[in-house]
Amino acid sequence: MEIKINKTTAPKAKPDASKPLGFGHIFTDHMFVMNYEEGKGWFNPRIEPFNDITLSPAAMVFHYGQEMFEGMKAYRGDDGSIYLFRPEMNAKRANNSNDRLCIPKIDEDLFVEAVKTLVDVDSDWVPSQPDTSLYIRPFVIATDPFLGVAPSKTYLFMIILSPSGAYYASGLSPVGIWIEDEYVRAVRGGMGFAKTGGNYTASLAAQVKAHNDGYSQVLWLDGVERKYIEEVGAMNIFFKIDGKVVTPMLNGSILPGITRNSVIEVCKSLGYEVEERKISVDDLVQAQKNGKLEEVFGTGTAAVISPVGKLRYKDDVWTIGDGNIGELSAKLYKTITDIQWGRSEDPFGWRVKVK
Ligand SMILES: *Cc1c(COP(=O)(O)O)cnc(C)c1O
Repeated sequence: MEIKINKTTAPKAKPDASKPLGFGHIFTDHMFVMNYEEGKGWFNPRIEPFNDITLSPAAMVFHYGQEMFEGMKAYRGDDGSIYLFRPEMNAKRANNSNDRLCIPKIDEDLFVEAVKTLVDVDSDWVPSQPDTSLYIRPFVIATDPFLGVAPSKTYLFMIILSPSGAYYASGLSPVGIWIEDEYVRAVRGGMGFAKTGGNYTASLAAQVKAHNDGYSQVLWLDGVERKYIEEVGAMNIFFKIDGKVVTPMLNGSILPGITRNSVIEVCKSLGYEVEERKISVDDLVQAQKNGKLEEVFGTGTAAVISPVGKLRYKDDVWTIGDGNIGELSAKLYKTITDIQWGRSEDPFGWRVKVK
């Protein structure tokens, strides 16, 4: 399918390059839109001026939350080139989410083509200050004006773009994480592996609680025994225990992060043994007691690597290592961001050039 392009005649002013961009407030000049109708399939892929959309108040997404989203970035290299990072993985994951959510699948080549075309049209919006990027948000919403509970017969697939600032304004710095023992995020058989708004709604109450206590994110435990480590708010979690890299296995309730997958590959290439397995809080308590819990870090598109300096579980607060960034965390951050921003070779073939 050919993507039609209708460019704006009134481009907006770009954000002031001397001010921090923050995250998720500013949107570019254009957006990608494609419609779906039962019997017709996906049709009319197009790029339009960024604008509000009109939906019936009865649109199904407002009532039962049938929606899927993705998160990825475009990076500007020193020579002005623009890159994506493993976009085909986002396309594939979008369809895994779609499948679980009864949303019709999207041709994965078209998904990647749509991202590339939109980023190309708005390439002037890819910021160039250090560690800034253009955040890319593809999403699908159910649009049928119908209050019955059933999969919608019509959908919109859209992509919007938002220039975003350096995640670490003053360099890579460790965060405090709250191990949540009251609320749960997802259970096996649920939709924890899908990127969908409902999972985030489920996380808000615990996040508010953790924030009020001065912790930046929540670490979820499994929904059944509340014993096994799952993942952080919007990040997967890794531990370095006695020289080994350990992360929870993908069990259906955890989001399969693309950064997680990349970190596993990089760790293996660095000669680390990597274990994807069940990890109980007790395992961590033991490791911490024995002085073997060497590093803890989260992984996700936003922060890439987020070192954890402090973990709170019930009445205990542990300082990880010396509370500073671990050696492996720092190495992974540099290796992956150098590939993303085109500062190094790309031995894994992860970089995709837009222009
Ligand atoms: C998006 C997301 C991640 C990280 O995935 P990446 O592909 O690495 O960005 C982890 N956990 C949750 C719940 C997420 O939504």
